[in-house]
Amino acid sequence: MTGVDVLDRIPVGGAVRRGTGEALTCVDPATGEVIAELTAASPGDVDEAARAGAAAADEPGWRDLLPHQRARLLHRIGDLVERDADELALLQTRNTGKTLAETRALAASAAGTFRFYAAALETTETPLTPQRGPYLTMSVHEPIGVVGAITPWNSPIASDAQKVAPALAAGNAVLLKPAEATPLVSLALARLVAEAGVPPALLSVLPGRGSVVGEAIVRHPAVGRVAFTGGTTTGRAIGHLAAAKIMPVTSELGGKSPTIVFADADRDQAVAGVLYGIFSSSGQSCVAGSRIFVQAEIYDEFVDRLVAATRRLRVGPGTDPDTRVAPLVTFAHRDRVAALVDRAREEGARVLCGGQVPADERLAAGAYYLPTLLDGLPNHARTCQEEIFGPVGVVLPFRDEDDLVSQANDTDYGLACGIWTTDYRRAWRVARRVAAGTVWINTYKQLSISTPFSGMKNSGLGTDKGRAGILQYTRQKSIYLGL
Ligand code: NAD
Repeated sequence: MTGVDVLDRIPVGGAVRRGTGEALTCVDPATGEVIAELTAASPGDVDEAARAGAAAADEPGWRDLLPHQRARLLHRIGDLVERDADELALLQTRNTGKTLAETRALAASAAGTFRFYAAALETTETPLTPQRGPYLTMSVHEPIGVVGAITPWNSPIASDAQKVAPALAAGNAVLLKPAEATPLVSLALARLVAEAGVPPALLSVLPGRGSVVGEAIVRHPAVGRVAFTGGTTTGRAIGHLAAAKIMPVTSELGGKSPTIVFADADRDQAVAGVLYGIFSSSGQSCVAGSRIFVQAEIYDEFVDRLVAATRRLRVGPGTDPDTRVAPLVTFAHRDRVAALVDRAREEGARVLCGGQVPADERLAAGAYYLPTLLDGLPNHARTCQEEIFGPVGVVLPFRDEDDLVSQANDTDYGLACGIWTTDYRRAWRVARRVAAGTVWINTYKQLSISTPFSGMKNSGLGTDKGRAGILQYTRQKSIYLGL
């Protein structure tokens, strides 16, 4: 699967060929080694893929498939992803740096997502409206035609599946635009989708720069909806382009999520949960619990335990089963994270641990950064307000529930929140008062495809996942039948 000639070809409108855009290099961030060189898509390729996709979505062989027939194809994709799960995991680990445990979980999640939307498709009902005159009405959900799916690099195959599965289930063609640095697993997914029997023009994978290929997808007249996951600045830019053509967009954006430790929390559980929330995926997670609020009376004791446990986290390559903090996705991103920690120092932060690249010679060739905890900053400091998207957590004290809620909500983001307490009534009250699309109580970063996922405030627009996730890839049409 990972042969060089396979990697250099991309599926464009039913043909598998070299792109006609810029050269694109994929690097293993654990070693700095080049693992693939390909030619990205160009705006011309986007046009070809969109036209071919529109035609293929309207072919009777696809358009007239019954739900259970299309569902069978999605089940087959799920089976093929599962068959190749080890290879898909390794490919992602080499392209993103993530640990194999994480990339195996992403492959399993992708397989589950295709199966979930197969089941959702078969069980979606079209309600008949009660008769209100000499007519019957029915509102039907029709495919949009061609949809754009623009994804980030941090959980590639899972993000891709969350868009491609419901979009295909709804009967569309998809133009998938993976992040510049991590296109390889998206290309592998497209090969499996074709192998499952989905007509190839229904899924084009168009790697390349967001400002070139991504924008060409959003602007293309045949593209009737865009599902985007990525940063808030990009989401806003896509929103402007979409507004100009009156096109709906779903945006899953960034976060600066609070994770809250009350004085009565189970300390061992809270230490492990807080660390998992911020340091799994090396903090490169939209829901990373990057603002750690600790109740004042246990602050010193809890922070000492957190720091000691952080120092024990093993930093290393994603292929080593003992690694807990793997390299960051690219060297440029690692340098950006390092610069943000330097800025935190200038803001007056105390570096409790980390705050530098590892001194270990064996890690010198990779894009590593030590897991870092900071404190001593007020909640309004830039370090506490802006997403770092790396292994950097900032710890803040709070007095009581009201103080906590006001600090936790004092952010432009509203993606996720974690609460550690043994008082379930309080957990419920706080969960209802914090502005976040997802709240975890005595757990963190559990994500299920059947549970809707959305962000409040600058963290997003619209809802992904869940049974209703399929409906965003449809247009509703009401038909009156005279009696
Ligand atoms: P990004 O916004 O830089 O890029 C995301 C995707 O958008 C990439 O494919 C990129 O090429 C494309 N893109 C960039 N500019 C574009 C433009 N002008 N027009 C169209 N497409 C464009 O984000 P990233 O650095 O790849 O990912 C990290 C961000 O993603 C973080 O902010 C993170 O919080 C967010 N994220 C959110 C979720 C969520 O579900 N809320 C999940 C994962 C990541």
